[in-house]
Amino acid sequence: MDHITKDDLAQLDRSYLQSLEKETVIDVACKLRDFSITLVERLEQNSSNSSKPPSSDDPYTKADKGNSDSKDDDDKSSSAEDKENKTTKKDAWTESSQSDDSKRSAGRQPGSKGFWRSETPVAESTIPHYPGNCVICSKQVDVAEASRPYMGYYVYELEKTESGMRIFCTLHHYYAAVCDCGHETKAQPGEGYISHVEGRKKDLKLTEYTMVGPMLVSFLAALSVRCRMSRVKIKEFLSYWLTTELSVGTIDKCIREAGVACYPVVEQLVEELQEEKIVNLDETPWYEKGRFKWLWVAISKRVAVFCIGTRKKEELLKLITSAFIGWLVTDGYLAYRSYERRQRCLAHMIRKAIALSGAVDEKAQKMGDWFLRELRGLIKAMAEDGEGGKRKCSPILARLKRACNLGSEEKHSKLRALSKEILNDWDAVVAFVKNPELPPTNNDAERALRHAVISRRISFGTRTTEGSMAYAALLSVIETCRLRNQDPWQYIAQTIAFGRKGIAPSPIAA
Ligand SMILES: [Zn+2]
Repeated sequence: MDHITKDDLAQLDRSYLQSLEKETVIDVACKLRDFSITLVERLEQNSSNSSKPPSSDDPYTKADKGNSDSKDDDDKSSSAEDKENKTTKKDAWTESSQSDDSKRSAGRQPGSKGFWRSETPVAESTIPHYPGNCVICSKQVDVAEASRPYMGYYVYELEKTESGMRIFCTLHHYYAAVCDCGHETKAQPGEGYISHVEGRKKDLKLTEYTMVGPMLVSFLAALSVRCRMSRVKIKEFLSYWLTTELSVGTIDKCIREAGVACYPVVEQLVEELQEEKIVNLDETPWYEKGRFKWLWVAISKRVAVFCIGTRKKEELLKLITSAFIGWLVTDGYLAYRSYERRQRCLAHMIRKAIALSGAVDEKAQKMGDWFLRELRGLIKAMAEDGEGGKRKCSPILARLKRACNLGSEEKHSKLRALSKEILNDWDAVVAFVKNPELPPTNNDAERALRHAVISRRISFGTRTTEGSMAYAALLSVIETCRLRNQDPWQYIAQTIAFGRKGIAPSPIAA
C-alpha cells in the first residue's frame, strides 16, 4: 500500500469527504483502515518480536516482560540505509548540542588551577636500579659504593593479600656508573610502544617512569571497562576506600595505557581466530565522539576479538581474513553473504515470525504461527541426540520450504519479506541440519556484545580512535581470558609490565 503522508491526511478533511460520492468515500475509508492496521501493528512491536532494542520497550511494561534475549541487529540489509540516515541526524544533533562550548575540549582547560599532591608519598621500600654493562664497550660496570642515584620516582602498586588488597608505595632509584673505558652508563627506566593521536599535545608512551604500577593500572581498567565506572567515580572510590589520590587525568591515561599494551595480544588473537572451526560474528552501533561507528565482535569457543570501525566489508576482513576456512554464524547482514560456509541466526527469523503471528491480517497470523512452529521444531529436533532427531528434520524442512513458497506469493508485505528472506538464504538457514556442530542461533556473539551495549548507553561511546582501539583491545583480552578460564587482570598487569619494558607479551594460556 502507498504510504500516506501528513500532507495527504491534511487534505482529507470533512468538506473533502462530503464532496465525494458514496462509493469513493468507502474506498477512502478502506484505504485508511489499511493504513491504521499498519500503524497498530507497528505500535505493538517491541524487542521480543522485532528488531527494536530492549531500551525502546515501554518502561512500565518492561518488568512483566521477563527475560527476552533479543537485540537491535536483525535485518540489517534493509535497514542499513535508515541507520546511515540516522547517523547524519545524530551528527547534526551532536553539533548543535555542543554549539555553546564547541571550541572547548574535554578535560582540564588551559590556565585552570593544577592538581598536585601536597605531601611527599611515604615509600615502604626503595628499589635500586644499577646499570649492568657499559653501553660502549659492553664490559660490566660497578657502581661506586658512595654514589648517589641520579634520579628517582615513586610508584603506587596494588597487591592482592589473603584478606583483600592493599596499595603501597615504593621509591625507585636509578644509578649511573663510570666504566674503565671512561664512559658513564646510566640505568634507565624501561620504555615501550608510543601511541600517537593527531592533534594531541602529548603522546601516550608505555614506560616504567610513571607513578602507577601495572597491577594498579589493571585494577583501574577493571573498574572502568568491567564495572563501567566513570573516571570521576573511580577517583572518588580510590580516595574514599583506598586513601589513594589520583587525578582524573592520570586515571584516564592508565585505562588507555592498559588497552594500548594489549594491542600486540589482539594481533595474536586475530591470527588464532583464523584457525577456528566456528566463529560467531555480530556488530552493534557505537559512537566515537558523536560519530556513528560499529562495534564488531568475532567469537569462537576460545577466542574473542572486538573492533570499532565502519560497517563496511573491509572492517569485517580485519577480523575474518581470507585465511579463514571455518564456519561463520551470522545474522542477515549483506557483508556476510559472500561466505559460503555460513549459518544464519534462526533467532532473528523466529522474532519476525512472532511479529507475524500477532499481525491483524488473519492469513499472516496463521503463516506466522506456521513459520514459528517449523523453525522451533527444527531447533528442537536437532537438539535431540542421535539419528532420531535428524530423521525428524527432513519433513520439517519440507514443510518450512512449502510455507516459504506459499508465503512469498502472499500480499502481506512482511509475510512475503520473511518468506523470501528464508528462501534466498536457504542453505545458510538450514546449514546446521547437515552440520550438527553448528549452533542454530548467534546468541554467543550477541551475549558478548551485551556488556558493551550497556557501556555505550552509560558513556555514549569513546572519544578518540586511540580510545576506541584501547577499549576494543581490553574487551578482546577480557573476553578471551573468560573463555579460557584465566584471570584477565593478572594477565593485563603482566602485559603492561612487559609493554613498559618494550617486551612482547606472552600469549594467553589455553
Ligand atoms: Zn666501557
